[in-house]
Amino acid sequence: MTRATKIVATLGPASNTPEMLERLIRAGVDVVRLNFSHGKAQDHIDRATMVREAGRRVGKEVAIMADLQGPKIRVGKFAEGKVMLENGAPFILDADRTELGDVNAVGLDYKELPRDVKPGDTLLLNDGLLVLTVDAVRGAAVHTTVKMGGELSNNKGINKQGGGLTAPALTGKDMEDIKTAMSFQCEYLAVSFPKNATDMELARQLANVAGEPYRHKAALIAKIERSEAIPQLEAILKASDGIMVARGDLAVEVGNAAVPALQKRMIKMAAEMDKLTITATQMMESMIVNPVPTRAEVSDVANAVLDGTDAVMLSAETAAGKFPVETVEQMAAIALEAERAEYVSIETDFADRRFARIDQSIAMGALFTAHHLGCKAILALTESGSTALWMSRHRIKVPIFALTTQPISQRKMALYRNVYPLLMPKFDDRDAALLAAEKILVERGVLMPGDTYAITCGEPMGYPGGTNMLKVCRVG
Ligand code: PGA
Ligand code: MN
Repeated sequence: MTRATKIVATLGPASNTPEMLERLIRAGVDVVRLNFSHGKAQDHIDRATMVREAGRRVGKEVAIMADLQGPKIRVGKFAEGKVMLENGAPFILDADRTELGDVNAVGLDYKELPRDVKPGDTLLLNDGLLVLTVDAVRGAAVHTTVKMGGELSNNKGINKQGGGLTAPALTGKDMEDIKTAMSFQCEYLAVSFPKNATDMELARQLANVAGEPYRHKAALIAKIERSEAIPQLEAILKASDGIMVARGDLAVEVGNAAVPALQKRMIKMAAEMDKLTITATQMMESMIVNPVPTRAEVSDVANAVLDGTDAVMLSAETAAGKFPVETVEQMAAIALEAERAEYVSIETDFADRRFARIDQSIAMGALFTAHHLGCKAILALTESGSTALWMSRHRIKVPIFALTTQPISQRKMALYRNVYPLLMPKFDDRDAALLAAEKILVERGVLMPGDTYAITCGEPMGYPGGTNMLKVCRVG
């Protein structure tokens, strides 16, 4: 049985070798995430080459997602590297401070903080492990009281409860990193901390300009990790190709308890708008140090699958963990088992929906037919991948094999739920193309004599958006 839900794995010291990458891809990784918060441009270029080569060796094309760092909303450094903040103690965050920090005060990487906060605000440091309340803002100094103390070390992140930090989503560094990412033609570009659609539109413009010399267009993923992004969700989705449920920062800003319901809402809304979703952060966290996940992590991955996410993501588990391969293997097994148990009924998806486009209507027709006939597979001959995208926005147990002549479309589709992208040669003749497609699936052992399948294509062949034909066939 094929796994529908895809796995995104982050590269890092634990996985940066050709051998390890190859093992990870064999274990089930579909998309590799390059985290631009760490490393230099050349490191990412080298890693991208390594990913492409490993994919080729394994015989499985994986997509690359370049994840931009975004604004650094962080405290400065301490003289001793860290301090211990006691509950009830005063503590000052001072944008003008030039000397290293101590137990009374620390400088700020994020100089705008004093302008963004007012008395009564709650600041969360180090992913919410420390809580400060703002008492007063005097010039560049934010005076606070420690509500929940603990250890605070160099350059830890700052979040404001409820959102409201004005840092722009795209920094100068991000703009340079976009150029780097386009030079190796990343299939996906993830934007950190977007507040609204405008942030995504700007990223799109920069990516398109930087991609021009390579005739490359990347798909854009908006990381939903700010409070402000929630009311803007629909507009952000419209301006993006997909979203990441970035539960790490999001949980700090909106509160842990709000995240599971938001995850469900985001995944549902994205699917309805024909967009992609990646569910991220702490999915298999304990496997950074342990060879098995906790029961709660197993349920978390399974529930994200049942929510309908396209992909589940691994961060430190594969970047810096002790068991990267085991983590991927176990995540894959959990996803597969959850999918097996899933109940699907596509009728509800069609109620009250109108399809105005010919290609989209054909895609939906194929889905409906294949589901009801109990077809073995759906084959979609697609240039851009949009037919496969539309089909994959609905829950169906029939696997969708997307056959394309474009390597870039093939790799992009690696993220689509229930889509298995394959490369096929270019044909001018429709019947020759249909026969070739069937042959590819028979050779792969997917189709056997007597099996029925639904196949879609465009006539004439080879035009993006040209799908206008559905055929139901039986393998002879
Ligand atoms: P990050 O984003 O890992 O880049 O911080 C994901 C998240 O915040 O959950
Ligand atoms: Mn984040």
